[in-house]
Amino acid sequence: MSGEFSVTPPPELIESLSKPSGTVLCLGHVHPDGDVLGTLFGLGLALSAAGTPVIFAGPHPVPESLSFLPGADRWQVWKAAPETFDVIVMTDCPNPTRSEGLIEGARGPKSRVLNIDHHPDNRRYGTVNWIDPSAAATGEMVFDLVRALGLRVTPAVALNLFTAIHTDTGSFRYSNTTPRTFRIAAELVAAGADSALVSDRLYQQRAGDSLVQLGEVLRRVQISDDGQIAWLCVPRGLVSRDFLDAEDLVGYPRSVRGVKVAVLFSEEGPGTVKASLRGKGDVPVNAIAHRFGGGGHENAAGCTISGTLDEAVAALLQAVRESLVAARP
Ligand code: 5GP
Ligand code: MN
Repeated sequence: MSGEFSVTPPPELIESLSKPSGTVLCLGHVHPDGDVLGTLFGLGLALSAAGTPVIFAGPHPVPESLSFLPGADRWQVWKAAPETFDVIVMTDCPNPTRSEGLIEGARGPKSRVLNIDHHPDNRRYGTVNWIDPSAAATGEMVFDLVRALGLRVTPAVALNLFTAIHTDTGSFRYSNTTPRTFRIAAELVAAGADSALVSDRLYQQRAGDSLVQLGEVLRRVQISDDGQIAWLCVPRGLVSRDFLDAEDLVGYPRSVRGVKVAVLFSEEGPGTVKASLRGKGDVPVNAIAHRFGGGGHENAAGCTISGTLDEAVAALLQAVRESLVAARP
């Protein structure tokens, strides 16, 4: 396929999934979130119900906060792919390196890699690439794909796809939410996705100590003198991994009036810092993330920076300041 974007699934994709030979591997990326898991389980369970053997796997486990997704009990955590597969589906994954080597191990000479994603910077590493940056979530695309394949949207499929859309739109609050988002969400609820259950599982199931952890973290929010940049540093060991996965921490600095760019810095290991960037339409934060080898969307992006927390903060905030100056009218 060429480098174009498309709102409809390409015929090669439909053909590859219509009568797949052998087992379909639904492969996730590092630290899987609601969109990748919801789409892999949504598509995989629809194929499975139609009789196709499906395996779900990725380099990291399903986070506790998403363990309610139907299919989560079938998720395998791999250090290396045990064999090659004829068909490999990757969703919401712009860059094959985010599979931590699993894609290389699972891909044989005859494999068809189906790359389904809504990131504009997708590397087009698939045999078939379906990229639609106008989709708020890969969940919207997979809904259309399941329909185009003539597969049944069971309540389990609907719950997964609804959660994918719910999480990537910040519960239908962000600017990526469109009439298409609401139309598909309505169809998913009609097909049996329980929207109250999703809200409950995502927001009303905090661990007992999480408010203490939240307090620790929120004390650390910093705001630049001009009020345009807000950031938050989380040193390693300050909070648990489950807490980091379950909470949208960058949403707090983002929520401050006047802030144009918010950043969460979390120390992943000695000399490794993960940065999550959020914008509000003033500057494309994916361009900033690109400068550090990362990527993402205009208003939500991320990268991993080598160095101490202080070094990462200094380097990234300098880049944010430069882009704010460049964007000044
Ligand atoms: P988050 O900040 O929630 O981890 O990610 C926000 C967005 O940025 C997601 O669309 C995600 O795919 C992208 N993103 C986050 N970290 C990275 C990264 O290290 N590399 C790339 N290419 N994209 C990232
Ligand atoms: Mn996504």
